[in-house]
Amino acid sequence: MKPDTAPQAFLDAIDADTMLREVQDWSAINTGTANIEGLEKMAGVLADAFSALPGDVELVQPATVTAISAEGREYEKPHGKHLVLRVRPEAERRFVLTGHMDTVFPADHPFQTVKWLDDDTINGPGTADMKGGLNIILHSLRTFETIEGSSRVGYEVMINSDEETGSLASRGLIEELARGKYAALTYEPSALPDGTLAHARGGTGNYSITITGRSAHAGRNPQDGRNAIVAASDLVLKIKGLEAEDITVNPAKIEGGAANNVVPDLAILRFNIRPKSTDAMNRFDGELGAILRGIEAEHEVGIHRHGGVTRPPKPVDDRAQRLFDLVKACGAELGQQIGWKSTGGVCDGNNIAATGVPVVDTMGVRGGAIHSPDEFMIVSSLRERAALSALVLTKLSTGDHL
Ligand SMILES: [Zn+2]
Repeated sequence: MKPDTAPQAFLDAIDADTMLREVQDWSAINTGTANIEGLEKMAGVLADAFSALPGDVELVQPATVTAISAEGREYEKPHGKHLVLRVRPEAERRFVLTGHMDTVFPADHPFQTVKWLDDDTINGPGTADMKGGLNIILHSLRTFETIEGSSRVGYEVMINSDEETGSLASRGLIEELARGKYAALTYEPSALPDGTLAHARGGTGNYSITITGRSAHAGRNPQDGRNAIVAASDLVLKIKGLEAEDITVNPAKIEGGAANNVVPDLAILRFNIRPKSTDAMNRFDGELGAILRGIEAEHEVGIHRHGGVTRPPKPVDDRAQRLFDLVKACGAELGQQIGWKSTGGVCDGNNIAATGVPVVDTMGVRGGAIHSPDEFMIVSSLRERAALSALVLTKLSTGDHL
């Protein structure tokens, strides 16, 4: 095969019927992020499927993740294992391809089955986000492996079990696998159903602040109490005051409190931030620290801070832009018109970009309405995007440095 001169050969090499059948089968396995049993089943099916490639498949234990309960207690949250395939780890030029096996639909959600919407569109849980994308990873690599020159490069495939809840149990693994790689591809569905890629992304952080005051009788000795709800309310206004053009702050929930005749000694404030730049992210962190110390002193309460930025902002630097340009050029060779646009959404591409590795993170299927029961996948995009990835990998293997 002469890939540079015959991109049609990539399309011809893809077995679209097998791809569709696998996506339908994979979509039928419920893999809500908390469904450990479903994730285990899926990991087994994926391990079998990816063993068609050279290299070794390994299931990796999730990292320990804690959360704060409504009572202010820190507890451990269980997660599924992650899949890692390592191919030719000794190669000098190596890539990382990533995806996630979890979906936002828990085991008891009514949306569990696949149905046809028209002759090129299916509706089903995780079809677009992102079992279709996982299937594209598999089939683009199978095609890539048939190409002369693929044996000169190596790659790792990482499929995590917890992307939809922020990849807290896989962040470390993602960063470890990304570091030092030549380029990264992530298989979230395209930003728009026409195939448009997501370009720069903002970041996100989630915080739980536990405030411990002192309870007292609201009528008899209120002066002895330290009101955690009042301190939390003061905190809400102060962090909301940190909003700026490059960062938004969303106080989302206050839990805790007590009966009407009691000064409440517990409040848990949960909030989300969306920094648009690394500067904004770091500035917020410093200012939050000062505000928390101020609240502690002023309201005489104890404060425990949990969480932080989980997805750093993803700017597109020169090398990343060259990767976008390469994907666009490969698309053009295959008769696919590919553009991009910035988005407020986040994904594992944020964490990969933070390691300095160029990444395009919407290499998956064309589809839409993700995270809703209307989620759909355009069936013909399986073959189309698998050919695109195979061609991109080929160019990345042989081209000059990004
Ligand atoms: Zn996704």
